[in-house]
Amino acid sequence: MKEQHTPDSGTERIVDSQPESQESGGEFSVRPEKLNDFIGQPKVIAALKIFIQAAQTRQEPLDHVLFLGPPGLGKTTLSMIMAHEMGVHIKVTSGPAIERPGDLAAILTNLQPQDILFIDEIHRLNRAVEEILYPALEDFALDIIIGKGPSARSIRLDLPRFTLIGATTRAGLITGPLRDRFGVTHRLDFYQPEDLQTIVLRSARLYHLALDTPGALEIARRSRGTPRIANRLLKRVRDYAQVQSATEVDKRLASQTLEMMEIDAEGLDQMDRRLLCTVIDHFGGGPVGIETLAVALGEETGTLEDVYEPFLIQMGFLQRTPSGRKITARGCAHLGRPVPNGEQGKLL
Ligand code: ADP
Repeated sequence: MKEQHTPDSGTERIVDSQPESQESGGEFSVRPEKLNDFIGQPKVIAALKIFIQAAQTRQEPLDHVLFLGPPGLGKTTLSMIMAHEMGVHIKVTSGPAIERPGDLAAILTNLQPQDILFIDEIHRLNRAVEEILYPALEDFALDIIIGKGPSARSIRLDLPRFTLIGATTRAGLITGPLRDRFGVTHRLDFYQPEDLQTIVLRSARLYHLALDTPGALEIARRSRGTPRIANRLLKRVRDYAQVQSATEVDKRLASQTLEMMEIDAEGLDQMDRRLLCTVIDHFGGGPVGIETLAVALGEETGTLEDVYEPFLIQMGFLQRTPSGRKITARGCAHLGRPVPNGEQGKLL
């Protein structure tokens, strides 16, 4: 199996929503372990509580679940919480890490009844692997081909009844047959600043950092609606406070740190602003195709689509149209730039 690939493995970015390489040391310690400690996403949590309780009453494994949404919103965390609530083991892997059908067979045959298998980036499973997953999900069986040529024969292995939790940032890339095999699908949304404030305050407590509520709100507001980014910014604020020998972090100290990192009041960093400015300066405000934009920025298309765009679109700074990406009047206003010529009427 190969190492898990993250789309932006080449660049270090403070508002990056991809896991940190040292995530185990940092984020795992603040990862909530129980449903009641999970902050935000009220609709998803309410539905999951019923779902878990019903399965526990029937003493059955959970139905297969698909989580959709941008990185860093809590898909892995929720899956771990579900395993904890069900009192079962969880095996965590990702689509690109399962290279061959044999890799998946080894994982599946090692599961205990009711265990959870979590596959991140499930849209990146290769076809051959995906095909052996279908009977595993539906009939809890593995069809294995033994031998080659005319003497090849297929044998069926029974598997324990397990639960698959798939996570993806790209709902559109999941094949129909795979999508149909999930009993439940939940989409996670960007978090409200108040929820992120609660998350930041909770993490600060776990880090033994004195942080006041306005300071927490300042970090929350600049976290692009993403808990992973909120926790990451909190760590940088903690470093700054330590160097300044500050005993408590308040709003002033938090905003000083964030300004030093060039994260603006809406949570945009240099790369976000560069993206928006490129659309204005090189492409007259758009529309511009995603591939062209990726080349102009020296980034991968997938990274733009997964990491940068969702938040810029959600904020109303960028628009995705059938003919390409376009800057919006709001985007121009945020940058303090005039609406590109010829676009005024259309953008306003
Ligand atoms: P994803 O799998 O969607 O990329 P993760 O589940 O790995 O995201 O979450 C990233 C980090 O953000 C976790 O380590 C956890 O500490 C934090 N986190 C995510 N959601 C929440 C939440 N609702 N409450 C508290 N912390 C959260």
